[in-house]
Amino acid sequence: MLEISHLSVSYGQKPILKDVSLSALAGEVLAIIGPNGAGKSTLIKAASGVLPVESGKVTVAAQNISGLPSSQRARMIAVVPQARSLPFAFTVYQAVLLGRTPYIDWLGHPKPHDHHQVIQALELPHTIELSDRRIGELSGGEQQRVLLARAIAQETPVLLLDEPTTHLDLKHQSSFLNLIRKLAVMQKLAVMMVVHDLNLGSLYADRVALIHNGKVYAMGTPAEVLNEANLLNVYQVPVHIMKHPDYNAPLILPDGLEPHLVPYNHQSGLNKST
Ligand code: ADP
Ligand code: MG
Repeated sequence: MLEISHLSVSYGQKPILKDVSLSALAGEVLAIIGPNGAGKSTLIKAASGVLPVESGKVTVAAQNISGLPSSQRARMIAVVPQARSLPFAFTVYQAVLLGRTPYIDWLGHPKPHDHHQVIQALELPHTIELSDRRIGELSGGEQQRVLLARAIAQETPVLLLDEPTTHLDLKHQSSFLNLIRKLAVMQKLAVMMVVHDLNLGSLYADRVALIHNGKVYAMGTPAEVLNEANLLNVYQVPVHIMKHPDYNAPLILPDGLEPHLVPYNHQSGLNKST
């Protein structure tokens, strides 16, 4: 569904993405992981067509998106960006209605179907009860869910998200990511999602791409990618990998605590070095 092939992107003279090839099938969640500055947000921006590509291409359902007018692109790819970008003075309802922009005629009049889609989109991430609130008075986590509602209202086959769970507490992380999986599986969306938390990537993604210095360092199932060697090489910090007790997914434990800095109450049993 979403196919990124041999994509290179530079900011000025500085190459950021170098020959990146990735794909996300309909019904699949692809997690993008990698250290700060690896190029993950750049990848989301280039894949959504808002950033010009130097070479390579991005296609959705075999159609190259780079030549398309933005309204047509917006019917194919919806984005939940990293920066909170909703207009502060808008109500939640108005902000989610923005997701219908690519379908609304030049007079700007939404049809009953547009309102119907907005209501449905508001319901999925539990934002319907926020409908009349102003964006400016919402918490970061609430705004994040509104951004998802707007993306759902866009009715696209491809959904891109950049660290969508950063502002969410544990409960909302879990319901947000379950909803992402539900959208992928039930509505056959192709989802590409940057996740900061490796364990969330491990648990909720079908495949994981590890980005390092603007290149795809490793790509595969969570078990194939999330191993101690890959993570040590890329993040430069030792980790300990276990199997998740409930799922067939790797569980990543940080293992970089310096022995002389071990907290007092850990010193008895847990400190391996004593
Ligand atoms: P990530 O999301 O993986 O943390 P980014 O894609 O945001 O990384 O950034 C990749 C690199 O590109 C970083 O070195 C960052 O400083 C640089 N960069 C990001 N945005 C710009 C910009 N608008 N102009 C110049 N350099 C940028
Ligand atoms: Mg980023």
